[in-house]
Amino acid sequence: MTCPVPYVAAMAPYTLADLGGDLISMAQNESAFPPSPKALAAAQDALTQTQLYPDPDWVDLRQAIAETHQLDPDMILCGAGSMELTGCLIRAYAGDGRAVLGTEYGYAFVASAALQAQAVYRQVPESGLTVSIDAILDNVTPDVAVVLLCNPGNPTGTMVPSVEVLRLRADLPEHVLLVVDQAYAEFCDASNDPSGIFALAQRGDTVILRTFSKAYGLAGARVGWGCFPPAIAAQVRKLLNPNNIAAVSQMMAAAAMRDRAHMQEIVRRTEAIRNPFASRCRALGLDVPHSHTNFVLLRFGSVDQAAEVDQALRRAGLLMRGMAGYGLPDCLRATICDAAVMERALSILKEALS
Ligand SMILES: *Cc1c(COP(=O)(O)O)cnc(C)c1O
Repeated sequence: MTCPVPYVAAMAPYTLADLGGDLISMAQNESAFPPSPKALAAAQDALTQTQLYPDPDWVDLRQAIAETHQLDPDMILCGAGSMELTGCLIRAYAGDGRAVLGTEYGYAFVASAALQAQAVYRQVPESGLTVSIDAILDNVTPDVAVVLLCNPGNPTGTMVPSVEVLRLRADLPEHVLLVVDQAYAEFCDASNDPSGIFALAQRGDTVILRTFSKAYGLAGARVGWGCFPPAIAAQVRKLLNPNNIAAVSQMMAAAAMRDRAHMQEIVRRTEAIRNPFASRCRALGLDVPHSHTNFVLLRFGSVDQAAEVDQALRRAGLLMRGMAGYGLPDCLRATICDAAVMERALSILKEALS
């Protein structure tokens, strides 16, 4: 009889997303719009070379990222999604008595990554569905080795200004690794200059993570990246899978990064659908925090009402994400899809709430 090691046997499996069969997914924060045509052309080229392993060092992709964000390419690491980087960071810096600290509505994957590292994961309360920097600082006990801040947040869509993140870093002990997950930052870079946040990596104790899965429309390619202090990058590299990102995906991501105008157009078009959708939901009496992302969190009057609306949406062929797993059973999270889908969602909401 085979027998797994005890901590794996005791682990709950990661809850995979309910894809809802034939339903239109508004559940995974995927882009409403396709990636850059230049990324698609790059994929065609890459397909002719699939007998070869990919570049294990992501040289061209790192170059594209470094040029775009004015970063040192030696400080960039790429992952099979930013989730791979989060997982390796937690394995490298937590476990063995060292805890991970996150926030109340922090990204669910962090809990799994902590389990895989056999690390304790604690979450501090948020305030009004927004991260509280003071609450994080108040809860840094001596065993905390990693603080994970998701900004803007998922599933809340809210954000704290960069100055608050800088204050967090300044007030955290220097032995604590701060990981800032900025999966949605492209949706607010224009109004919230990211250079101060990237500069935190220069301190040697802070990592900034980003992804191609959201604003670049490349969720299926599985490419994430981060700005790492060199000493931390050296540790994380030991844990990454060698040849972790398919050649096709690397070439698509590099081309997408170089087509900044296309990404900005995705952001603009997403916001142009998101903001009126959120306003109209508020007009229906829902509580909708201002979103800095490609989704909105809809808070209903009760848990029952959220469940009824979820059922009505499913009957109409639409799937939003239930939020019970995040302790928000009275909420649904709606990814911004194309305008026709949002109109359909709105009409179901209107009918269900009247
Ligand atoms: C979507 C998302 C990511 C990105 O994950 P990938 O592995 O890069 O697809 C990371 N963090 C949060 C909070 C997200 O919502």
